[in-house]
Amino acid sequence: MCGDTYSRLREMDCCGCFGFLKKSYRSLISFHGPGGRFSQELLLPESVQDAYMYNGDSDSGSRRRGRSSEEIITARVSNGLICREVPVKETRKVTFSEDENGNKMVNEYVREWKIGSGSYGKVVLYRSVIDGVKYAIKIFHKSYLLKLRVAPSETAMTDVLREVSIMKMLDHPNIVKLIEVIDDPHSDNFYMVLEYVEGKPVCEGSCPGGGIGESTSRRYLRDVVAGLMYLHAHNIIHGDIKPENLLVTDNGNVKIADFSVSQVFEDDNDELRRSPGTPVFTAPECCLGLTYSGRAADTWAVGVTLYCMILGQYPFLGDTLQDTYDKIVNNPLTLPDDMNPRLKNLLEQLLCKDPKHRISLSAVAQHLWVVEEEGPIAEYLCQCRRRNSS
Ligand code: ADP
Ligand code: MG
Repeated sequence: MCGDTYSRLREMDCCGCFGFLKKSYRSLISFHGPGGRFSQELLLPESVQDAYMYNGDSDSGSRRRGRSSEEIITARVSNGLICREVPVKETRKVTFSEDENGNKMVNEYVREWKIGSGSYGKVVLYRSVIDGVKYAIKIFHKSYLLKLRVAPSETAMTDVLREVSIMKMLDHPNIVKLIEVIDDPHSDNFYMVLEYVEGKPVCEGSCPGGGIGESTSRRYLRDVVAGLMYLHAHNIIHGDIKPENLLVTDNGNVKIADFSVSQVFEDDNDELRRSPGTPVFTAPECCLGLTYSGRAADTWAVGVTLYCMILGQYPFLGDTLQDTYDKIVNNPLTLPDDMNPRLKNLLEQLLCKDPKHRISLSAVAQHLWVVEEEGPIAEYLCQCRRRNSS
């Protein structure tokens, strides 16, 4: 299924990634030639790209100008507009030791094994000696983050701090929880202690037809949409929805992970400029280098994810990055003739090239294919709304 295609593609190195891996900031500029098609400029050397990328842009450029995410988050916190009841623990001291079996420890956490590597750091499984609970800890080196320039006035550290600030606000059953941040000024390491999601990403585990089957896909999709509706209702754009960032718990519930390219907005205006997500999941309007709506782009990525879950392959995949973008923008969506008509209708509406006509998540929550087994996706009454309405 998706799992197979997916792992095969993951094994390829960057030159063969076909735009499947997250875009590096060096490849963020969107070019469009005549007729909206992509030109060779996409493959320009970095120095030339930088000139384009930094043109007139004083911040990361992925958001419109205005208050920064950090300012918006600070204002929300002071207005009580955060959902967390138990705040994220902030630890300013790190101690390295070993347990009685010689396993490495960071504060009260005993290292088990590495579970993933990210764009800026790695993710390691730890177990707390206090409560015996497993945690996924995302580990970064501050010196490396500070050296990695992502825009003229920003380094990768800005991205990580934004990821932390956004996660600090969130509390939803379909979103991975941030538990603690360990940042000792005397250590180069920076730790994000996350709730551990034991299972696999949504696309793993295949059915004979290629995908994971309609019923499992529907269940997973409902959870993704519930989590994403919560984010969008709080003016947060995820920015990198894809199977790898959708983790399935032992009970079969999906939790959205990885807020490393997420953005927060002051109001309903979710206009963005560049999309730092993963090319294969990039919406056509993001490929065109114009400003675009972050919510609609997340919704497109949900469509690509659903396509992957059902058919075990990507809807638009080229031999090169440029070819992939070209297909996203220009190729019509093709679906098997024998596909459930309701599912076909949903995929067509999610993967609608025009963001203005693309289905909204609230309409997805009531779509006939989605409601088939369990009814419409219920709206989640979060803490901040509960507090503000009482
Ligand atoms: P990046 O931004 O670098 O992609 P992620 O947050 O997506 O980093 O983490 C990388 C990988 O680590 C994920 O794809 C997943 O396999 C694993 N991972 C991340 N967070 C968790 C978690 N809370 N529980 C289990 N695995 C996780
Ligand atoms: Mg990720």
